[in-house]
Amino acid sequence: MFKKILIANRGEIALRVIVACRELGIKTVAVYSEADENSLHVKYADEDVCIGPPRSTDSYLNVPAIISAAEITGADAIHPGYGFLSESAYLAEVCEACHIRFIGPDPNVIKLMGDKARARRAMKKAGVPMLPGSDGPVDSEEKALKCAKDVGYPVIIKAVAGGGGRGMRVVRNPADLPNLLRTAQREAEAAFGVGDVYIEKYLENPRHIEFQILGDHHGNLVHLGERECSIQRRHQKLLEESPASPLTDKIRRKMGSLVVDAAKAVQYTNAGTFEFLMDKDGKFYFMEANTRLQVEHPVTEMVTGIDIVKEQIRIAAGERLGFKQSEVTFTGHAIECRINAEDPETFAPSPGVIHAFSVPGGPGVRIDTAAHSECTISPYYDSMIAKIIVHGRDRQEAIARMRRTLEMTVIEGIKTTVPLQLKIISDPDFAAGKLSTAFMERFAPAPKDTRLADTA
Ligand code: ADP
Repeated sequence: MFKKILIANRGEIALRVIVACRELGIKTVAVYSEADENSLHVKYADEDVCIGPPRSTDSYLNVPAIISAAEITGADAIHPGYGFLSESAYLAEVCEACHIRFIGPDPNVIKLMGDKARARRAMKKAGVPMLPGSDGPVDSEEKALKCAKDVGYPVIIKAVAGGGGRGMRVVRNPADLPNLLRTAQREAEAAFGVGDVYIEKYLENPRHIEFQILGDHHGNLVHLGERECSIQRRHQKLLEESPASPLTDKIRRKMGSLVVDAAKAVQYTNAGTFEFLMDKDGKFYFMEANTRLQVEHPVTEMVTGIDIVKEQIRIAAGERLGFKQSEVTFTGHAIECRINAEDPETFAPSPGVIHAFSVPGGPGVRIDTAAHSECTISPYYDSMIAKIIVHGRDRQEAIARMRRTLEMTVIEGIKTTVPLQLKIISDPDFAAGKLSTAFMERFAPAPKDTRLADTA
């Protein structure tokens, strides 16, 4: 087992990894930017190293600084968390070259899944159902028009290197395609440094359902069931739950074993998530695979009792999975609300100093956060400041538990999305499980244009 792990991240996820390491008796190294000197992840790690100025390109994305920090402190592994370098095949390769274990899949698998067009081809070959679309990147207007015609409008143009809902455009008729193709390419180039885009059929009001997997280096691979993440704003998840209400045990078993077989076909190891869209008829279509820990992993942990971060560490250290698929059981229902430092009406970021911070505990409540009273929420990073996760015997109890937790939450000094989450959790359609990716339009109508996400 590792003696010391460096955590190449910040905020709640850095703390989450520290928690797992402490329980496993592993020492930790925090890295931090100049803006995060007083953060909890720095306080709770055994050692800490400043890796640069506040801008993430100068610090949390700075591979040489992170590798130097690992070498100076003698860390034998790096956990990348989510976001930042978590899906960087380059970091995984540099780690390998420096004899530091990267806690995640093999760099080749990260590369394959990081190229969505290639991932689509690989998954199609493995027998995973797919929305019709281009088989690879579309580089010309003619190819794009032909593909869209074959697929049938509406279609969606997506960045091959996409992530965070960026670089996507919905096209409803051929006349709009040339312009939207160019915009999507430009946006992809600006956001990811790669302008390649591909086309797939656009589904109206689908549900987002994803499967969590874990695979060791000895050929054992299991799924931990699914999460529903249909509550999104501009294609960014706001609230997640497990299980997904439309899934029966039979569908879960069928989809689960399909995902396990597909993951085995690409020799997947460590933790991963296979994302699908589900249409009104209950049909599933593969969207993408994320080769990292997800923000919403706690809902799976709550219903399975499996600590995904500890498993990631054990797997990376070469241990065998300690359980079989038949030993993975699902109990009750879990919901996660992401609490962002944002105006709940306009979604404008609301950085600043938190003057009061209190979230009640009680049965079935888990709070993952690095925030506390008198802490500063920096404008430099993602606006998510806390995750409130609840577990109940059934969905109804989980909803009631989430409502009382949100009602009793006090965060003063900055604006947060707590009031918005309360609206969602109190909505009759939400209670009835009538969810889709268009659910949020009732609170903040989508802009009329075809833009799906902030380009910032
Ligand atoms: P990203 O990696 O940028 O998050 P995804 O491919 O995971 O992009 O898609 C994010 C969200 O965009 C989905 O959850 C869904 O709401 C929407 N979306 C993506 N592809 C489609 C599609 N073909 N039809 C309808 N909605 C889609």
